[in-house]
Parts: sequence; C-alpha cells; structure tokens
Amino acid sequence: MRTIPYSRQRIDEDDIEAVVRVLRSDWLTQGPDIEAFEQAVADYCSAAHAVAAASATACLHIGCVALGINERSLVWTSPLSFVASANCARYCGAEVDFVDIDMSMAALAAKLEDANRMPDLVIPVHYAGRACDREALLGLKARYGFKVMEDAAHALGAAYADGGPIGSNGGADAVVFSFHPVKPVTTGEGGVIVTHDVEMAARLRCLRSHGITRDAAQLEAKDMPAWYYEQQELGYHYRITDLQAALGVSQMAKLDHFITARRAAAARYAEGLEGLPLRLPPPDGHCGWHLYAVQVEEDAALSRDMLFEALRGRGIGVNVHYIPIHLQPYYRAFGFAPGAFPQAEAFYARCLSLPVYPSLSETDQDIVIAALRELLKAKG
Ligand SMILES: *Cc1c(COP(=O)(O)O)cnc(C)c1O
Repeated sequence: MRTIPYSRQRIDEDDIEAVVRVLRSDWLTQGPDIEAFEQAVADYCSAAHAVAAASATACLHIGCVALGINERSLVWTSPLSFVASANCARYCGAEVDFVDIDMSMAALAAKLEDANRMPDLVIPVHYAGRACDREALLGLKARYGFKVMEDAAHALGAAYADGGPIGSNGGADAVVFSFHPVKPVTTGEGGVIVTHDVEMAARLRCLRSHGITRDAAQLEAKDMPAWYYEQQELGYHYRITDLQAALGVSQMAKLDHFITARRAAAARYAEGLEGLPLRLPPPDGHCGWHLYAVQVEEDAALSRDMLFEALRGRGIGVNVHYIPIHLQPYYRAFGFAPGAFPQAEAFYARCLSLPVYPSLSETDQDIVIAALRELLKAKG
C-alpha cells in the first residue's frame, strides 16, 4: 500500500548535484560550504551571526552553555514540544519547569507573577511554525531579566506578527532552527543557531568543535605559529559536514517556495474539513505550517485514537505532536505528574497532525480530506 506520510523532505536534482559536487571536492567537512550555509540562513532571517551544527539539539545545548546555564540555573520551556526543548537544559544540569500550553504569553506572565524563583532562561517554541507573541515576550524579558532562546525548529521561513522573519529577533539572545527531513528545509541532520551577539557567536563556534579556537584574536598565547590552537573550555564534537551544508544552501533557495506550498495546503484543509467535528488551527498568514494539527471534538463519531488507527490503516501517515514533555518517564522522576499542565494535556488528548509538506499533491490531500469526511460523517 502506498502511504502518505505526515511530512517528508523534497529533494530535487539540483540538491543531489550540490552534494555530489562536495563529494568531488577537497573538503567533506570543515570546508567552505559550511560558511556559505551559515550565511544563507543569516541572510534569510536578517540575523547578524549564524552557527551551523550537527542538529538543532546540539545548537540548543551549546546555546544553553553560551548563555551561562549550569547546575544552579532554572530553565522554562513549553510542555507541548519535542523533548529536546527541555533536554538542552538538563545537559547543563539545570532545573527545568514548563509553561502551559505552548507558552502563551498570558500563561508566562502569570507564572512569572507567582514565581518565587525567576527562570534564568526561557525557551519558547513556535509550535507548528506559528510565532509566539514576540512583543509580549520581550516585554516580560525586559521586566524580569531572563534570557531568551527561541526553539524555532518548526519555524524557519515563518514570520512574527509584525512580518519580520523568525530569527530576525534582535531582542532574543538566540534562535535555533532544525534541518531534520520533516522540518521546513533539510540537511539530513543539522541545526543552526543565530544570534546578534558577536562574542556569543565566537563562543558557539568554539563549543561546537571541542572548545578549540585557532582565532589569533582569541588565543591566550601570542605570536604563535600557524599550527597552534588552544582548547579554552570543554566543548563538543557537534560539527556539521560540507555535504550537509551544501544540501542546506541548495534547499534554502527553495524555502519561500516550500512555505507557499505549505500555506496553500493549510488553506485547502481549512476549506475541505469545514463542518467536521474537528477544531482546526486558526488561520495565520505568518505561520509556516510545519504541522497542520487538528483537534478531534468530544462529540465526534471516532475518538482521536480510533481516527488515528483508521487513517493509518488507509495508509495516511497521521501523527501526534506532542506527548507533553513533563509526562515522559524521565521528567516524571522530577515530580511532574498528570494534571500539572492541563491545557497541554488536553491538547495532546485530542490532537492529530495531518500530512503537510511541499510536495503533497492536491490529489493526495483530497484522499486525506475524503477519508476524514467519510470516517467522521456519522456525527454524535
Ligand atoms: C525537531 C525538533 C527539535 C530537534 O531538532 P533536531 O535537529 O532533530 O535535533 C527541537 N525542538 C523541536 C520543537 C523540534 O520539533
């Protein structure tokens, strides 16, 4: 049976040629394509500095380190996210707490108001490629003094409410993008962290490669020969390869095109699913539609789990995003229990991500819509 996945990469001949060119070149890694990729991302989102690494998770980790997160720190993120949004803080030994649901700014403001311990870092997540309220977030940042690292793994190519591209946020300390194959554009595996702070960018480059620097301006020893380098702190091997970076440059040129296709698919779902017992995501001209997550209403003929099984049985690759992070056994061991973040849990109980990706054909999308209409028609 042919299956329609919930997401997939789109690779064209020119992407393949870009990778093959690197294979024939002198540099498979630590070569010129990495800088070109970083420049392409920085240019796209009007960020001063971009540092590419092995994954968004790696970027979130070195972002936390560069922002001074340690065993004494407290980090807040959204429970409605992939575990990496919280794990990055745990890598540094920090305590993690969550803000219900996908961190609405009202919920964040209320939690800050009540808190007897301020977070050192807040990691908002632009769930599905829909920007959180940047103005409100930066207002709270200014008032309470925490740092901000946006988890924009879903949101490359999307925009804030004022139309500025995600990542153009001079008010945030860092913004992180993912290049996993289901994300807006891909490098196979890969991540980019952008920042407006030149010193932070240098530190991130150092952390991505063992804590080693060769930059004469940064070396402790002066007038050393060209082979000299210094390890100045404990870093990691989180580098990306030139093969991946070349694919990234090629893909970045298509990002707008991909987002346009995702927006068209979202608009077709909004029209095609009208009248069904599904709560649809609200329209948003700035959203990048990394996910199209509907919520199955309580009075629907099938529960979310039944609908999931029925659609999967027809080869339609629906999915669930996300099991709230605090319900994972690893986080429950810190004392989080069901009921801790009721809005995220309620969303999780009913949500279903429908297929959405740039190469999703109208014919395939119509199969998805028709299946939903048929399965849900006996309402009540
Ligand atoms: C995919 C994802 C990540 C991790 O991205 P990788 O590149 O796979 O490390 C982090 N946060 C969110 C919200 C994600 O969806």
